[in-house]
This record gives sequence, C-alpha cells and structure tokens, in this order.
Amino acid sequence: MEKYDVIVIGAGVAGMTAALNCRRAEKSVLLLEKECVGGQIALSPKVENYPTKQQIAGSDLADEIFDQITEWGVEFDLDTVEAVSRTEDGFEVKCGYNTYQSKSVIVATGVHHRPIGVAREEELIGKGVSYCAICDGAFYQGEDVVVIGDANTALQYSNLLAGYCKSVHICTLFDKFFGDKTLVTSVLSKPNVRYTHNLALKEFVGDDELTGLVFEDTKTHDKVSVECKAVFICIGQIPHNDCVNGLVDLDKYGYIISDENCFTSCPGVFVAGDCRTKKVRQVVTAMADGGVAGFNCCQYLDTL
Ligand SMILES: Cc1cc2nc3c(=O)[nH]c(=O)nc-3n(C[C@H](O)[C@H](O)[C@H](O)COP(=O)(O)OP(=O)(O)OC[C@H]3O[C@@H](n4cnc5c(N)ncnc54)[C@H](O)[C@@H]3O)c2cc1C
Repeated sequence: MEKYDVIVIGAGVAGMTAALNCRRAEKSVLLLEKECVGGQIALSPKVENYPTKQQIAGSDLADEIFDQITEWGVEFDLDTVEAVSRTEDGFEVKCGYNTYQSKSVIVATGVHHRPIGVAREEELIGKGVSYCAICDGAFYQGEDVVVIGDANTALQYSNLLAGYCKSVHICTLFDKFFGDKTLVTSVLSKPNVRYTHNLALKEFVGDDELTGLVFEDTKTHDKVSVECKAVFICIGQIPHNDCVNGLVDLDKYGYIISDENCFTSCPGVFVAGDCRTKKVRQVVTAMADGGVAGFNCCQYLDTL
C-alpha cells in the first residue's frame, strides 16, 4: 500500500491550501473529505472579505481552489476519517471505506453548527428546524421565518432569507449583535427584517411541522410566542476533532491546541483552520494556517 508523505483531513479552504503547499514542495498528498469540497465557505452565497475578489460565491471560491490543487496533482478521496493512530514510522488513517498510511498528517477538519438543545430539536430537523439557510431557505419562500443568533452567520442568513421570505425575525439571547458593523446595518435596514433581543428559546411548537416558537424574555421572564414556518439556528460551532482525540491535545471545547505555527502536541501532526484554538475564524485565517501547516509539515518530512 502506498505511503503518502502527508494526508490532509478536510477539504475546506485550510485543508486545500495546506495540500497545495505540500504538493508544490513535491510531497505526495492525499486529501480526504467526508462531505463536500469547500467546507463551510461553500455555504456562503457572498464572500466580500476575500482580497482580490470584490464579491464571490463561496462555492465558486472552493471550486477554483479545488481545480488548482488537482492540477497540481493532489490526490482526493471522499471518505470519512474515523481515527488516526501512530505506527512505528508514521500514521495510520482509518476511514469509513479505506485505511491509509502516511508519514505526516495535517488536520483541517473545521467546525459544524451547535444545536440549541431544546426538546424535539432533532425530530423537527427538515420540518422547519434548520441550521443552513443556503441549503433550506428556498423551501420557505414567501413565509415568515425566524433566525436565532447574533453574529455574522445569523446576519448573513437573515440577509439571504430577506430576499425571498415574507418576514425575517432575528431573535438574540443577549442585548446586542456581535457581527460586523456594516453587516448589522445593512441587514437591519431591510423592511422585512426585525429583531428582538434577550430571548431564550424554550419550545418548538407544531406537531409534524414547525408552526412557531416559544421564548422566555430573559429580562422580564415573560413568555413570548412567535409564529413561523421555519427557524434557522446559528448559535456557534463545535469542532470536528473526534478522529484525533487522544492523539493530540484538545482544549475544553474540543479545539486542537495550537498557535499560529500550527504544530500540535504530536510530532508529525499539524493543524490548520477553524478546528484549532484561535480567535478569528475566517477564510483568510484558515488559508494562512494552511500555508503555515503545509510549510512546517514539509520541513518535518525533510528531517525524516
Ligand atoms: C454560512 C457561512 C458564511 C461564512 N461567510 C464567511 C465570509 O464571508 N468570510 C469569511 O472570511 N469567512 C466566512 N465564514 C467562515 C469560513 O467559512 C470559515 O472560517 C472557513 O471556511 C474555515 O475553513 P476550514 O477549512 O478551517 O474549515 P471547514 O470549512 O469547516 O472545512 C473542514 C472540512 O473538513 C471536513 N471534515 C471534517 N471532519 C472530517 C473527517 N473526520 N473526515 C473527513 N473530512 C472531514 C468537513 O466536511 C469540511 O469540509 C462563513 C461560514 C459560514 C458557515
């Protein structure tokens, strides 16, 4: 069985950038992805903070990077990494379908949405409860919808939904928005968008399909009922690091402990992007990590 110089886990922008850098240093690279190329940014209809592009759909950005890395000869497989373990002279990467060997690993597994933890949440997914306006928003054209969340993802989703839903009601747990100021201003200026602060979700209403939500006003403790056909929950993220738990050190939230050098506690394993401890999780910081992790990984390989 071929032993790759490096296996990159996750084909988001961090993983693809790391793979590109390793391949350009003439290392053999296998990139493994469990869902779709591009990761989170593929869900963003408009990226406006990616330098050189005034505006680009996240899926187009992801496709362009993918074309670039495959032209450079990065091998790609759609397979879920279940566990990574040390061998005598490298690593074994066990996936759903195959098991691979490598001399080094770059973990770029990103994050996924955080559930809100209210009863019947799971049961109503696809029946009015969603975490992705890009994926599910179009089902609710002309309807009243709610977005729960106070940061950029909630605001971007509200912006998108306001384009075709009758109304968008943004409900936040605290008393302010934490997103970019320009985004807050542009979203809240739309005539069919309104917001209410200080609401904690208590109940999903509806038998087979969602028909509304019940909140508690955290200041007055009053019950607040809101009718809606759908709710988009954007309240933060959870890292996808189960496959390396035990191999590298994680912080208490499950992020891989690292700094801007992208080393982990395990020699030969590097980390890039949103799945590591860091303050700013964005396309450009994920790509920067990909560059750094790729460089440090190649230096490590050259010492073997
Ligand atoms: C809706 C939305 C809009 C956004 N808009 C912007 C924006 O406008 N500008 C901006 O700068 N940032 C934006 N962001 C944030 C940005 O998308 C992320 O910071 C960045 O894409 C993170 O890249 P990543 O490669 O670290 O992780 P991810 O994009 O999360 O990619 C990780 C990849 O790893 C895969 N993976 C995970 N576990 C495994 C496994 N076990 N085996 C195989 N594969 C695995 C995942 O499927 C995923 O494809 C947005 C995020 C969202 C959700």
